[in-house]
Amino acid sequence: MLEIKNIHKSFGKNEILKGVDLRIDKGDVVVILGPSGSGKTTLLRCVNFLERADKGTASFGDINVDLKEASKKDVLAIRKKTAFVFQNYNLFNNKTALENVAEGLIIGRKVPKQEAYEISKKALDKVGLSEKYDFYPSQLSGGQQQRVGIARAVALNPDIILFDEPTSALDPELVGEVLQVMKDIAKEGTTMLVVTHEMGFAKDVANKVIFMDGGVIVEEGTPHDIFDTPKEERTRKFLRRVL
Ligand code: ATP
Repeated sequence: MLEIKNIHKSFGKNEILKGVDLRIDKGDVVVILGPSGSGKTTLLRCVNFLERADKGTASFGDINVDLKEASKKDVLAIRKKTAFVFQNYNLFNNKTALENVAEGLIIGRKVPKQEAYEISKKALDKVGLSEKYDFYPSQLSGGQQQRVGIARAVALNPDIILFDEPTSALDPELVGEVLQVMKDIAKEGTTMLVVTHEMGFAKDVANKVIFMDGGVIVEEGTPHDIFDTPKEERTRKFLRRVL
C-alpha cells in the first residue's frame, strides 16, 4: 500500500533521516519506537509532506513520487490517502467537537455540510463522544480532545492514519482511554503508522515494530522479535531503559 525508499532529511547541518525504508501493507499496525531525537516524528511528517524530504521515493497505491520533487497535485493526492493525529491534538478552539471533525470533510473533501455532520457524528460515536458533539475543546479533557482528533482522522476514511505520539501530552490517567480507542479502530482493520513510547500498545496491537536510532532503522520485526529476541545491542539497550 505504501512503500518509501531511502528517505533523507536534514535540518540545516543536522541530518535527521539517513536513508530510511518503510513498507506498510493494508491492515498493518506499524509502531515506530526509538529514543528522543532519533527522527521518528520527522519520518512521519515526511510521509504526508508536512515536511519535505531531501531525497527518497514513495509509492502510495497508484501514485509514485520522488519525495523531494513531488508536484502539488501528487502531494494533495497523497494527503487525501492519509490522516494525521497530532501530539497536541491541533483542534480549532473556536469550533465544537462536531465542527472540528466536520471541517476537513467540508473544506478538504467538499462533502456537503449535512452529510459531513452525519459522518462526523458517527466518528464521534465511535470514539465514545456521543454526548459531546457541541462541546468546545476547552470544555473537554485532554483525553477527550485527543479522541476528537482521532474521530477527525477516522471521518476522512483514509487509507492510513499516521499517529504522532498521540498520548505524550496527556496526564497518565487519561492515556488508557486514548489507547483503547486506537485499539478498537485497529481491530476494525484500520491501517496505522504509530510513533509512540507506549510499549504495551506496541506489544499488544502492532503487527510490526520498527526501532529507530540516529536517523536509521536499527531493527524491525514482529513485537515478539523486537521485545523478546532483539538482535541488535542498540535495541536491547533502549528496551532495558524503557521497560
Ligand atoms: P521525540 O521522541 O523526542 O519526539 P523524535 O524521534 O520524534 O523524538 P524528531 O522530532 O523527528 O525526533 O526530531 C529529530 C531531530 O530533528 C531533533 O533533534 C529535532 O530537534 C530536529 N528537528 C525536528 N524538526 C525540526 C525543525 N523543523 N527544524 C529544525 N530541527 C528540527
